Amino acid sequence: MPSTCSWPGPCFIKPCQYMIELDKRALMYLPGLGPKKAEVLQKEAGLVSFLDLLYYFPYKYIDRSRFYTIASIAGDMAYIQLKGRILSFETLGEGRARRLVARFTDGTGMIDLVWFKGIAYAKEKYQTGKEYIVFGKPTEFGRTYNIAHPDIDSIDQAGQVANGLTPFYNTTEKMKKAFLNSRTIQNLQYTLLNLIGWDIPETLSPDVLGRTRMLPMTEAMRNIHFPESAEKLKAAQLRLKFDELFFIQLHILQTAAYRKLRLKGLVCATVGSHFNTFYSDYLPFELTEAQKRVVREIRADLGSGRQMNRLLQGDVGSGKTLVALLSMLLAIDNNYQACMMAPTEILANQHYATVMNFLGDMDIRVALLTGSTKKKERDRLLPAIAAGETDIVIGTHALIEETVVFSSLGLAIIDEQHRFGVEQRSRLWQKSGQVPHVLVMTATPIPRTLAMTLYGDLDVSLIDQLPPGRKPVLTLHRYDNKKKELYEFLRKEIRLGRQVYVVYPMIEESEKLDYKNLEEGFEVFKEVFPEYKVCMVHGRMKAAEKEGEMRKFISGETQILLATTVIEVGVNVPNASVMVIESAERFGLSQLHQLRGRVGRGGEQSYCILVSSYKLSNETRKRLEIMVQTNNGFEIAEADLRLRGHGDLEGTRQSGIGLDLKIASLGSDGQILQYARDIAHEILTADPELSTPAHQTLRNRLKTLFSHKINWRMIS
Ligand code: ADP
Ligand code: MG
Repeated sequence: MPSTCSWPGPCFIKPCQYMIELDKRALMYLPGLGPKKAEVLQKEAGLVSFLDLLYYFPYKYIDRSRFYTIASIAGDMAYIQLKGRILSFETLGEGRARRLVARFTDGTGMIDLVWFKGIAYAKEKYQTGKEYIVFGKPTEFGRTYNIAHPDIDSIDQAGQVANGLTPFYNTTEKMKKAFLNSRTIQNLQYTLLNLIGWDIPETLSPDVLGRTRMLPMTEAMRNIHFPESAEKLKAAQLRLKFDELFFIQLHILQTAAYRKLRLKGLVCATVGSHFNTFYSDYLPFELTEAQKRVVREIRADLGSGRQMNRLLQGDVGSGKTLVALLSMLLAIDNNYQACMMAPTEILANQHYATVMNFLGDMDIRVALLTGSTKKKERDRLLPAIAAGETDIVIGTHALIEETVVFSSLGLAIIDEQHRFGVEQRSRLWQKSGQVPHVLVMTATPIPRTLAMTLYGDLDVSLIDQLPPGRKPVLTLHRYDNKKKELYEFLRKEIRLGRQVYVVYPMIEESEKLDYKNLEEGFEVFKEVFPEYKVCMVHGRMKAAEKEGEMRKFISGETQILLATTVIEVGVNVPNASVMVIESAERFGLSQLHQLRGRVGRGGEQSYCILVSSYKLSNETRKRLEIMVQTNNGFEIAEADLRLRGHGDLEGTRQSGIGLDLKIASLGSDGQILQYARDIAHEILTADPELSTPAHQTLRNRLKTLFSHKINWRMIS
């Protein structure tokens, strides 16, 4: 601690304790902030402590060493900087339109500076004739441009920021109202850094710092808020991104190692008669190479004596169910039970039917347990499961109710994993006194960077191949003024004996309107297709009613199914060859891809038709283009990550990990992530417990970062 420390209150903090103390100091004690503003910062930006503020990083920087001339302002411009003088002030308008307008010139032209608020203050503060630096975003207004609520510095003030790179912090309306704009936040950072003597304790150990040649923490923090130069800023960003990702990886890898060490796996080393008989006599087709590879991977895991935690990724239609069945047979061959949990009743029923169909007359006892299993049936099933008289249990959430107890559960399979919360998954662990092997199956491809971060300790298997004979779905984008042609096309397909899905978006905020669209669509379709049967399913229907309608479509009794996204997951109707997605612009990429996967399951050419309005933002247009261009789920997932960032991706929301990255982005920092992971791995290999003195810093940091969180990774 430098002797000039201006810490408010007794100065008892030793340098190595700063970080902990910064974490404990409430922001309202920061000079110049006060309780009211501190409350706004907490509510609007989630900032509570000094440390939170320090980690509130700018989202962009603008080069303020560069000046524009007023004459060169044209079109739609970003923030610019001008140097000149105010000629005159004028107050115009009444009531809400009342505003202060300053005529500003730099000798090359004129521009208006406008204030709607703080009029008296601005008039008082700025003088005509004096030279100022004006900063803001020019907007075209009639024949001239104006800048509303500009940042104004007098030339001598501006000297402080002469180096140019000015940070921009995210602010909300409410923050601005409380006079917490980007500028004030930068001032707060200044105050805070001054308070702690511009000295921030290092989080990396000397060996990591030496090896990676990253900027020291102090220098990185200084430069992220007050860049000395563009190069320094870059190095600071790299350091802080690395820091963020490195500790996550260290945590994940350490937990994984710990788990592997501590948890004994049930040994399922025998490949016995059930597996072999099924494989040779009942399997209706040859496995794809990818399926074979994955089955081998699972077999190795089950026999290893370590508990399996495997994520099975495979695009829709790639044949995950069969892999699941083969794995369950392995468990049964070793005298264990197996269960498979699906997110919806329809899916559970379908899995049950599929499994029964595959197994034929094999001597394997399979039970179906869902929310609508009748009491009498339950009373028969539950004791059988508890007594080990049932081999395979297929079901929904009903499986994790407390009343369900297994005699010896060896393998738990979870289909469409992202629909389940972590907590629900964890309950599967408590089913029979021993931790079962876990296989999580998902059709939502997870980009590598995300998988490494979210499921860093899961082993990943990949079915990257579709069964032979599938024709790729042809995807078309049509504007919604071409409905007639669309209906004609659908009629042609139905005449050939095929079925059609029509999906409408359903978003909570616009639920009413969405239902109206769906219901109107239903009327239109009935009118346009009087010769065919149209049915409809949506989230407001009772489960039984929904099931009934679905069944009619599955059996082919109805030809057209209108639905909200309830059909998104897993339904298998091979005869359906067209998927029409209404208001496609309102769906995310992975959702569109999931929906498209509902068709193309039979041998026929299938189509996915994305219907959108004409007005599309650039990003939306890109999304639809990607859909038209590729059927590859991984390409789509990567594109999704790039376009939207990881926060919105399905899987992250419910993952329970709350991936709250402050500076790194999984979309664009994949390389840094890989680097951080490699370094973390090397360190843990040499020092698994981080127990050497050299790694004390790392150990402490991990503790502060993760000890207050429930350790989800132990159970996911
Ligand atoms: P998903 O991975 O989407 O769960 P499914 O397991 O439902 O895919 O399989 C899709 C369809 O492909 C099913 O009808 C299944 O019987 C069939 N299938 C699976 N594996 C093969 C294979 N190796 N050869 C031919 N058809 C297969
Ligand atoms: Mg499936």
